[in-house]
Amino acid sequence: PKDIRNSGNIPRYVRVNILKTNVEEIIKHFCEQDGYRCIDEPTDLTDLRQTIKRDVHIPELLVFPPNTDLHDHGLLLSGHIILQDKASCFPAYILSPPKDAHVIDACAAPGNKTTHLSAIMKNTGKIWAFDIDRKRLDLLKTLTERAGYIEAIHCSFLNVDPKDDKFANVEYILLDPSCSGSGIVSRLDCLIDSLENNLVSNKEQKTCHPKDARLQHLSEFQTQLILHAFKCTYLSRVPSVKKVTYSTCSIHAEENERVVKEILQTTDDFVLADRDKVIPSWERRGDNNELAEDTAQKLIRTSPEDSTNGFFVACFVRKVKQYGSNI
Ligand code: SAM
Repeated sequence: PKDIRNSGNIPRYVRVNILKTNVEEIIKHFCEQDGYRCIDEPTDLTDLRQTIKRDVHIPELLVFPPNTDLHDHGLLLSGHIILQDKASCFPAYILSPPKDAHVIDACAAPGNKTTHLSAIMKNTGKIWAFDIDRKRLDLLKTLTERAGYIEAIHCSFLNVDPKDDKFANVEYILLDPSCSGSGIVSRLDCLIDSLENNLVSNKEQKTCHPKDARLQHLSEFQTQLILHAFKCTYLSRVPSVKKVTYSTCSIHAEENERVVKEILQTTDDFVLADRDKVIPSWERRGDNNELAEDTAQKLIRTSPEDSTNGFFVACFVRKVKQYGSNI
């Protein structure tokens, strides 16, 4: 699949931290201080030279030319902008918890999506951010240290009691678990090279082309996490969770459509949100070789062909009439 090779051509995406500033201010800064030219209308990704564009799908996302180096930029160091790939902005945007919501970010570190959630919630409500990796969670704590409504907790989400009264009002859960990472462009190139040349050493094969057993293990773990998230209840009985996004940066159906298929076969309580609630203008949908066309249409896939990394998002909603109108 040579056409998906796009290393180095993925734009530099910049998410504006709308808790500190706004998109107009950031564009003004880049134009006046750094000599950029802004194409001021939402647009697709054709000519990127020396320009900044607003992203056509995510309102607070700006698109810079590929390889733009902003790592030392003052706006990044001051937390006014965040470097985040476009596809990785989709889960929080799709979950879109309202102001004052109670939210769980189940696999949260280093916190890109946690901070995106808090921006969407305008610094209100409560976010519990879990992660099993202490070092990564320390990064999240640094990123969110002045946000008292974000509680970082070092543990496996699978060990969290979803019936704890603390979580009684949790209605939204973002699940972005560990995955093979096969959608990340540098790894995709590696995967394609190994398939094309068939010249790789065993060691390379291990990192570039995950074995079936590893994918199987990951997909079982991912399925377990989703089912655990569905268990959050109020007073140990009344369902509270009504919307759960599941995402991976994997291109493997085992971690994507097949996990969704397994979940839909296991639960009677959740269904996939309709396509019109899941970035309807995004064209690349789930793989219809894996699921019926109407089901696949409710899922999102992204690829370097879309100028972003390979990514997958599913959005589950509770199958209860009373929630129908506000999700
Ligand atoms: N959502 C993060 C972000 O946007 O910055 C990236 C999350 S990364 C893809 C997956 C994370 O899941 C890793 O930080 C890993 O330590 C964490 N993880 C793996 N198993 C876990 C578990 N059982 N409970 C909680 N976190 C877990």
